[in-house]
Amino acid sequence: MRLLIAEDDPQLGDGLTVGLRQDGYAVDWVKDGVAADLALKSESYDLLVLDLGLPRLAGMEVLTRLRERGQALPVLILTAHDATGDKIAGLDGGADDYLVKPIGLAELAARVRALARRAAGRAAPLLRHGELVLDPAGRQVTLAGMPVELSARELSLLQLLLENVGRVMTRAQLEASVYGWRDEPDSNALEVHIHHLRRKLGADLIKTLRGIGYTVPKA
Ligand code: CA
Repeated sequence: MRLLIAEDDPQLGDGLTVGLRQDGYAVDWVKDGVAADLALKSESYDLLVLDLGLPRLAGMEVLTRLRERGQALPVLILTAHDATGDKIAGLDGGADDYLVKPIGLAELAARVRALARRAAGRAAPLLRHGELVLDPAGRQVTLAGMPVELSARELSLLQLLLENVGRVMTRAQLEASVYGWRDEPDSNALEVHIHHLRRKLGADLIKTLRGIGYTVPKA
């Protein structure tokens, strides 16, 4: 999953970026509303964390423009603690959830997971495929009840594939969801991660469609 954080407070922005990367998300961070608007127009994100008090272009305006373009990604807004009106305006303006500052990282991560789950069209917190179970909250995978050790990127790739069982995911989609701007993938990194997933979870789980991408077929 690829997230955009729009937050001008350097300490909070840095903390959110580092924390969410540790949770396995590809995270890009912008520090003003114009940069946020531009990034949302040019890149593909699965979720936006949006501070309403942004310089150059207000967060509400970023949100309004996003929804006017018909972009449906979930938006979690961050508001100052005394700004009740902001929460209401934000939710009415197309945000899906809000958090009031000061932000606790654990709560933010839980809300991000809940929004991602709903955006992927599922209410259940666990992803199941045959004997394979992935727990996005606990960042754990089991196969026939036995825990399987996966790297953060392997887990992110597997989650995206399991959220799209039966659909072909292109290289670009997979790479965009596990790499942010700062760490460009080298050309065969995706193949290496897929190879590791097959070795750990069985050769038949992930099918290659040569020149197109990968898919996990319906069980
Ligand atoms: Ca701010």
